[in-house]
Amino acid sequence: MRDPRYDILFTPLKIGPVTAKNRFFQVPHCNGMGHAMPLAHAAMREIKAEGGWAVISTEECEIHPSSDLTPYVEARLWDDRDIPALALMCDKVHAHGALAAVELSHNGPTASNLYSREVLLAPSHQVSKYGYPSQARAMTRHDIREYRRWHREAALRGKRAGMDIVYVYAAHDLSLPMHFLQRRRNQRSDEYGGSLENRVRLLREVLADTRDAVGDTCAVALRFATDELLGPSGVELAEAQDIVGLLAELPDLWDVNLAAWYNDSVPSRFAAEGAQEPFIDFVKKTTSKPVVGVGRFTSPDTMVSQIRRGVLDMIGAARPSIADPFLPRKIEEGRIDDIRECIGCNICVSGDMTISPIRCTQNPTMGEEWRKGWHPERIQPRRTASRVLVVGGGPAGLEAARALGQRGYEVSLAEARRELGGRVTREARLPGLAEWARVRDWRVGQIGKLSNVSLYLDSVLSAQDVLDFGAEHVVLATGCHWRRDGFGRSNGLGIAELADHPRVFTPDDLLDGRMPSGRVVVFDDDGFYHASVAADLLRQQGCEVTYVTPEDSVAPWSVNTLDYRHIRKRMAKQGIEVIVSHNIADFTDTTLTLENGWDGLRHERPCDAIVMVTSRLPADALYQELLRREADWSDAGIQSLRCIGDAEAPGLIAHAIYAGHRYARELEEAPAGEVAFQRHFHTADADDLRRMPPP
Ligand code: ADP
Ligand code: SF4
Repeated sequence: MRDPRYDILFTPLKIGPVTAKNRFFQVPHCNGMGHAMPLAHAAMREIKAEGGWAVISTEECEIHPSSDLTPYVEARLWDDRDIPALALMCDKVHAHGALAAVELSHNGPTASNLYSREVLLAPSHQVSKYGYPSQARAMTRHDIREYRRWHREAALRGKRAGMDIVYVYAAHDLSLPMHFLQRRRNQRSDEYGGSLENRVRLLREVLADTRDAVGDTCAVALRFATDELLGPSGVELAEAQDIVGLLAELPDLWDVNLAAWYNDSVPSRFAAEGAQEPFIDFVKKTTSKPVVGVGRFTSPDTMVSQIRRGVLDMIGAARPSIADPFLPRKIEEGRIDDIRECIGCNICVSGDMTISPIRCTQNPTMGEEWRKGWHPERIQPRRTASRVLVVGGGPAGLEAARALGQRGYEVSLAEARRELGGRVTREARLPGLAEWARVRDWRVGQIGKLSNVSLYLDSVLSAQDVLDFGAEHVVLATGCHWRRDGFGRSNGLGIAELADHPRVFTPDDLLDGRMPSGRVVVFDDDGFYHASVAADLLRQQGCEVTYVTPEDSVAPWSVNTLDYRHIRKRMAKQGIEVIVSHNIADFTDTTLTLENGWDGLRHERPCDAIVMVTSRLPADALYQELLRREADWSDAGIQSLRCIGDAEAPGLIAHAIYAGHRYARELEEAPAGEVAFQRHFHTADADDLRRMPPP
């Protein structure tokens, strides 16, 4: 059972008029489902409540059409018709004894209003944050009164939905109360601008309004960013300390973090567990109210330390609750080894960014709770006593073996190398990616507890080996290789003459310890993390590194994981030269010719080696050979053969984990129909339409 050292994590805490049953607080987080997929959203939140979190929050919740965040899909309380969706979430959260919280938000100049087509509102005239070609207008005093009314009415709707905690949001550079605090956004000369006391006025008023509206039964939480890390042009720590001093006792709970989002949810490549402590530890010394904060906390010892040292009262988590919705329950039950620790890759963030349901590298069931009925801890037992052979011990093979083992199958996993983990083990050795090894470690740990899963290392299987093995089901998760020939988005025919060049390298070469030296160009036609990590590694090895990409920006997809700015800063700090919008035209001796993608002009530069980060090829030779020998399957007793993960189509580690999990879930299950998942139908809207008289 529970280790008594962790008892403090399970002591209840009073937050205004409500009581949290323990110290685990799922802070607001986006999920790409929001108001558009309320059933999926509610089911996802319910799973976390079941997993033991004392408080479950929504994501940002728009309070009015002038705070419309389209195309991003967040929560919505524009009017009473939005109440049922959040009431559903509240019911599901309450069913497990947890409290429900709503993060009311009006994003002013950081909203979009692309759907509502309202004019954006802001403290002063200014450009919109996201570069929409329209500006936000300065709010009049009347607008401020209206905004306060909208916020108050949304708070009342939240209460009617069943919320226990109502947030006032002043964080992430994303909401009007924060925008009024920021000198760069607030250049007013009335009582809402100028002095700090004036800039704090709106936040103070909204806190009072919210307490007045719902404070009898709901706690009022304030989400507040203590530093924007922008120097004097942003809210800085010293000013934040004054603000907390001015408002100390007004909210029932302080939820504190850093702005903007990329400084709050920093990828593990750029920040360790608990990295926000120096920016938020003053808050508890300034207020008697409970304080919650985040830090990608997955270690119960770190959590206890945060509370004992008086940094936090409650352990806030978005990502750790996504990677393991059952984290609190596991600590409570003394199952620390079972915690599926977040790796800080921010693929979860990419769901919101790409306006699609949330997904997680570590937790393949995230976002599938309602759609596919997947539960992170439970899985249906096997239907038959068939045996399964898994070939390849990377993320896809390990997850397939683990989940098949959980179903009760007799599983054998053969791995060619002397170590498990495939690409995860290899990539985790690269600069900043050490925590990614958790993908392997959790699965190997879980498999170690299953007597029906056998692991065979140093076992390269041929097609004949697979046929001789005699398992009824065979799944190949044999991974992929980086291409050397430059084939990719920008070079559809490849750069054939470079394929056999002795000084052209691939990320696989670097992972295998074959390193270039001297003046190295890292050519990125992939657009995510691989090239910048390779550049980082080569710089650390003493190479003179130039990053070249045909794209117009560095690693464009990394915007979706909040890596982008950190990558740029690190490259700048390391003295890595960046050349965008250029393709490789030629490489002879020590001369590289680059061609500008827009004007076609070429220039030459000295270069000793190129690392090609372009695209990958499935390592599916075994699969192809077994397909050729299909006639031999029945004699060998093989009923099914599948190829999954990078061996099917190279992708993210998240894709490989998902593929392994899905294979295990679906093996010998009746197909669910044409569409293998539930989907939302906007039937209420359609019914309204049918009732409308013809024009
Ligand atoms: P994925 O991301 O799809 O899991 P990885 O590349 O991480 O793919 O892992 C594939 C694993 O499969 C590697 O560890 C590799 O050594 C192993 N492998 C490849 N071919 C064979 C084979 N014929 N027999 C056994 N293991 C193999
Ligand atoms: Fe953590 Fe990555 Fe999962 Fe996000 S996607 S919760 S960062 S493991």
